Amino acid sequence: MSTYPDLNLLIGGETIGTSGRETIDVLDPATGEAIAGLPKASSADLDAALENAKTGFATWRATNADKREAILRKAAGLIRERAKDIGAAITREQGKPVKEATGEVIYCAMLLEFYAGECKRLYGRTLVRPDGQRVEVRHEPVGPVAGFSAWNFPALNVMRKIGGPLAAGCSVIVKPSEETPAGGLGIVQAMLDAGVPGDVCQAVFGVPDDISRHLLGSPVIRKVTFTGSTAVGKHLAKLAAEDMKVATMELGGHGPVLVFNDADVEKALDTMASNKFRNAGQVCVSPTRFLVEEDVFERFRDGFVERAEAVKVGNGMDDGVDMGPMASERGPDGIQSKIADAKDKGAKLLTGGERIGNQGFFHQPTVLSEVPTDAEIMNEEPFGPVAIINPMSGYDAMLEEANRLPYGLAAYAWTQDTKRRAKLSSEIEAGMVGINAGSVSAADAPFGGVKWSGYGSEDGAEGVTACTVTKTIHENA
Ligand code: NAD
Repeated sequence: MSTYPDLNLLIGGETIGTSGRETIDVLDPATGEAIAGLPKASSADLDAALENAKTGFATWRATNADKREAILRKAAGLIRERAKDIGAAITREQGKPVKEATGEVIYCAMLLEFYAGECKRLYGRTLVRPDGQRVEVRHEPVGPVAGFSAWNFPALNVMRKIGGPLAAGCSVIVKPSEETPAGGLGIVQAMLDAGVPGDVCQAVFGVPDDISRHLLGSPVIRKVTFTGSTAVGKHLAKLAAEDMKVATMELGGHGPVLVFNDADVEKALDTMASNKFRNAGQVCVSPTRFLVEEDVFERFRDGFVERAEAVKVGNGMDDGVDMGPMASERGPDGIQSKIADAKDKGAKLLTGGERIGNQGFFHQPTVLSEVPTDAEIMNEEPFGPVAIINPMSGYDAMLEEANRLPYGLAAYAWTQDTKRRAKLSSEIEAGMVGINAGSVSAADAPFGGVKWSGYGSEDGAEGVTACTVTKTIHENA
């Protein structure tokens, strides 16, 4: 078993360990046992972090884009070099198979390489009037940013909180999840080791609501960026509004998957079944409601069950494991109650449905079918390894069901019909749409949702401009 790193706060370039601070236990979800203590930032620590963020912002925004780019590229290199170690720590604290965890860290490096290039691509524009007047439009860094992220991608969620602000010229204080701190600390430490000043990129931990109230209560912070549930997102958006801070909200979803009669069913099955059980279903863009046209329904349903039953569940550190435990006790408890509710309301349980063993937080890959619309799981994100496969017929009914919920993060469709693809692309209410595609994430493409799934984007050029404010200068000759 790999060693798990010591955990610390990173404030002003200083590594602050557990000595003299209250701690929070970090658990291994494969055993349920504590593997490390995480120091909580005191109120004085947070004040120091805010003061640093102010000075750090002044330095970083004045640092030449070439230099910022070089530092971020160096950090990306360090992240690549350390991917195996950071990946192993992620598996210990979060549960996902180590191959998946290492892949997550490599993806962070790719994302950072893109963001590094964006340091030099923050273009403005100039309007030249016939009388010699010039109007210059600039994108300036918004100011110090506070980032709060969820536990499902311990490194990637933090990378997304840091990359845009640093490329735009902002300083950032990040609070990775207290349940999975090592992945995010690995990313922040790589930044510091590559030469990002200690007052420009900092990491704190504590009681989430206390930390966010403290940081967002300060006029120093000019933007908040959050990855997590819609309930917490609404709360943080209200706190941001008190001081007119800019906000980016990456919140929950309830991914519909429309499988039409003309779909390449085998390809759809291979792609979407492995997507469903990736990270034990704890992915905000996870496919959840499979709406399958009647002619292909039985084939799709049976093929999905076959693939669910072939998923090898086990400790993510072991070879050949496809799916690890869920990240915390809340995971299996939450889906157990949703499965029971769906069965009570008439849903068919086709496979799975139970916790595995009495150690750790394992749950069987599960498939429910013919789930009525009033079942909780049809309305609330399961955030676990449960697929809902319902028969439907006709474009209009499928689209109506896809758009029924207040969420709009990722949506998927499988069809060969180009006209239908074009129509669906416009009519589906989602921030990201996969058509005959299972992945909706790429470093150079914006990632984010609509409606209750949030607003603003991370990644792509939009992820950087989201960390800027516009200034227009009208200048006479
Ligand atoms: P949650 O919102 O309770 O917690 C998510 C994270 O936010 C945790 O790390 C927690 O420490 C932090 N947090 C909680 N309250 C906070 C507060 N007041 N201030 C600052 N930080 C706070 O959600 P959860 O149930 O633990 O996580 C799963 C949810 O997150 C799902 O709904 C999922 O869709 C969503 N999520 C969304 C994305 C995305 O990119 N859209 C990515 C991952 C997870």
